[in-house]
Amino acid sequence: MQRPLACLALFLLLLTGCLARNPATGRTELSLYSDKDEISLGAQAAPSVIQESGGLYRDAGLSTYVDEVGQKLVAVSDRPFLPPGDASFRYKFHLLNSSEVNAFALPGGKIFITRGILTRLGSESEMAAVLGHEIGHVAARHGVHHMQSAMGMDLLISLGATLVKAQNPDLVGVDQIAGAARVGAFALQMKYSRDDELQSDELGMKYAGKAGYDPRGMTRVQEILKSLQAQEPGLFESLFRSHPPSDDRIEATRKYIAKRFGGQDLDAAYVSHAERFASRTAALRKIQKAYDRHAEGTKAMAPISEKKIDVASPEGKKAAEAAHAAFADAIRMDASQAPFHTSQGYLYLLQGDSPNAGRALKRAVELDGELFEPLFLLGVHEFTGGRLGASRDLFVRGSLLYPAHPGPYYYLGRISEQEGKRAEAVRHYRRAEAAGPETPYGREAKERMKKL
Ligand SMILES: [Zn+2]
Repeated sequence: MQRPLACLALFLLLLTGCLARNPATGRTELSLYSDKDEISLGAQAAPSVIQESGGLYRDAGLSTYVDEVGQKLVAVSDRPFLPPGDASFRYKFHLLNSSEVNAFALPGGKIFITRGILTRLGSESEMAAVLGHEIGHVAARHGVHHMQSAMGMDLLISLGATLVKAQNPDLVGVDQIAGAARVGAFALQMKYSRDDELQSDELGMKYAGKAGYDPRGMTRVQEILKSLQAQEPGLFESLFRSHPPSDDRIEATRKYIAKRFGGQDLDAAYVSHAERFASRTAALRKIQKAYDRHAEGTKAMAPISEKKIDVASPEGKKAAEAAHAAFADAIRMDASQAPFHTSQGYLYLLQGDSPNAGRALKRAVELDGELFEPLFLLGVHEFTGGRLGASRDLFVRGSLLYPAHPGPYYYLGRISEQEGKRAEAVRHYRRAEAAGPETPYGREAKERMKKL
């Protein structure tokens, strides 16, 4: 089994012909993806990854602040442009609306940081350490290495096909949806090696220092994460899967600082900007209470949404009552957050309360037209009510926002079926199956195709 794979690898290598210099290490290495491929992979995965991670947090001032700090670090990094010297390229920093403590990078310079981690940090230099670490992963091409080695040849080939098709929008279809779904899932589950993590810590400190930030922000971040891990296990599973903190890593940051910055008066030569950071992120800490209450409601309704209990049973009614109370509290604390209205609408939908479901979901869509969940649920609400035109518009918008989700394709298939358009229904069902073969939507789509 080894030989055919090795031959295939060699063939691909000859085909794409790629040995490239690593921007961060200077070493020559195997590179099956060009800079442009890397950007394309990241761009394909990003929309689904954003929706999967709670959507973007809507605060233009705060997003700009994160981007400004990020761009300062990029400018002094080893890989400010992909491809080198291409001034039209820009790293993108995204603030995710998630209470989880997390940060990650996609190939191609897309960097994500959560609302949850910002509420735990104490200064701009600490945020710079987190962003610098993620820029380090991109600069040293860790994500790309990981894809090359861990995804297996078949996936590499299918992605190759995906990339080719991505350049020709007319061919966008089943393969691309499946490819994007796999890249997105892979990016979220990525686990870097310990060496990659140590290297990114060093690169993060190097970039932070060059941008004028106290490099001890990195040590502090590691200490914060380690103590959080002890206090609240489960809060940030995904971060610790990719960046587990440890005493060794904390010690390694101290050694690196002594080596690279030794002999300098760090307090005098570098900034931390604790006060500026505290004032810029004050609103986030305030809103956290509302999100905590929202999370209690989500937990209360989970047995209903997971179909473990019947919503009409006595225990179902009790759970729904507790969840409604929590969502109402969250909305009282901050009525401008789309996820609170989404959850309320979803619960009404499960209860069969159509007028209230429609009202709450419409409010959520008004507040955030780029959040998948309320758009999709409103589509289901309209479809159930027989309003096919309105539901089609919502599912089309949903499929563009979250291409890796099988739900919109499934419902578009149902709509086409009701309209007697058989070929169109099959095309939508194929997409649903490609996006989520193991999901109820994918399975149901397959069953319906057989009957057509
Ligand atoms: Zn990392």
